[in-house]
Amino acid sequence: NKMIIAVQTLGNIRVFCRCRPLTKEEVSTGSTTIVDFDAAKEGDIGIMTGGSTKKTFKFDRVYTPKNGQVLDGYNVCIFAYGQTGTGKTFTMEGTEQNRGVNYRTLEELFIIAAERKETFTYKISVSVLEVYNEQIRDLLATSQSTKKLEVRQAAEGFHHVPGIVEAKVENIKEVWDVLQAGSNARAVGSNNVNEHSSRSHCMLCVMVRAKNLMNGESTKSKLWLIDLAGSERLAKTDVQGERLKEAQNINRSLSALGDVMSALAAKSSHIPYRDNKIYISFRNSKLTHLLQDSLGGDSKALMFVQISPSDNDLGETLSSLNFASRVR
Ligand code: ADP
Ligand code: MG
Repeated sequence: NKMIIAVQTLGNIRVFCRCRPLTKEEVSTGSTTIVDFDAAKEGDIGIMTGGSTKKTFKFDRVYTPKNGQVLDGYNVCIFAYGQTGTGKTFTMEGTEQNRGVNYRTLEELFIIAAERKETFTYKISVSVLEVYNEQIRDLLATSQSTKKLEVRQAAEGFHHVPGIVEAKVENIKEVWDVLQAGSNARAVGSNNVNEHSSRSHCMLCVMVRAKNLMNGESTKSKLWLIDLAGSERLAKTDVQGERLKEAQNINRSLSALGDVMSALAAKSSHIPYRDNKIYISFRNSKLTHLLQDSLGGDSKALMFVQISPSDNDLGETLSSLNFASRVR
């Protein structure tokens, strides 16, 4: 009775080229670079092979030394999508023995930060939000204020939610504690934990503020780790009242996400924010509105599409796989 996890990344097979910077030793012994990054945006990389001769190679994407990981100013979104019970939370949160994507991603961030401590300082903080019926709840707040949490746009298109807790984390032990606190808070105030969590999006936002000690440059990037609400269609017996409203909100937010992602996949690296359709899709739900500055452009998106192996779930499984093929 093994669960199957289908992992799909955006796009087909892509070949990336990545160039490290010259090391301090290379610089001090007079090495120069033979790599020409002028066409890196188009996926081309030039190698100066002697004199003025240049040999050009094609890739899907070229990473110059200025590019890097999320730690260098990329925004990243990782989603778990699928019907309730297919392992979204298992994938994202995992268990104490078998830690999920959330923990492992943060663990990786701390490893990279430690490796680069001579050249960068990093400040990492975590917020945990839940979106239920188009309302944002702060799962790290110690007291629930009655004030509505809303998405606001700050300078340079940066989106944020004023008033939410940003828990500073300095090591991976603190991360686990914060993740546990968020996960526990998800249950508070609901009579059925699993039912409630299947109807809400759980959104972890990791803020990484990096300072380059060499040139003083600062970057700010966001990593979103999102356990989406169950994608299943409403049962015919549940066509009224609160359940109907919940289902409509979930449908609207998941289809807005699908619209945004398929638009992004179709237009590859370039996102026209003013393109009305995408703009409206972003504004169509709290989920996509929160992600407006984190999807598109140079951002990375990865989606885990979770499915069930059971013949009972055939319909939902097909619908999830169709969703997945629409967004890639
Ligand atoms: P969802 O969040 O999509 O509703 P869960 O993550 O709660 O689903 O998973 C449902 C059940 O299946 C849980 O008991 C979980 O531990 C189990 N499960 C999910 N994926 C796996 C997996 N890959 N291996 C073993 N157990 C899994
Ligand atoms: Mg779940």
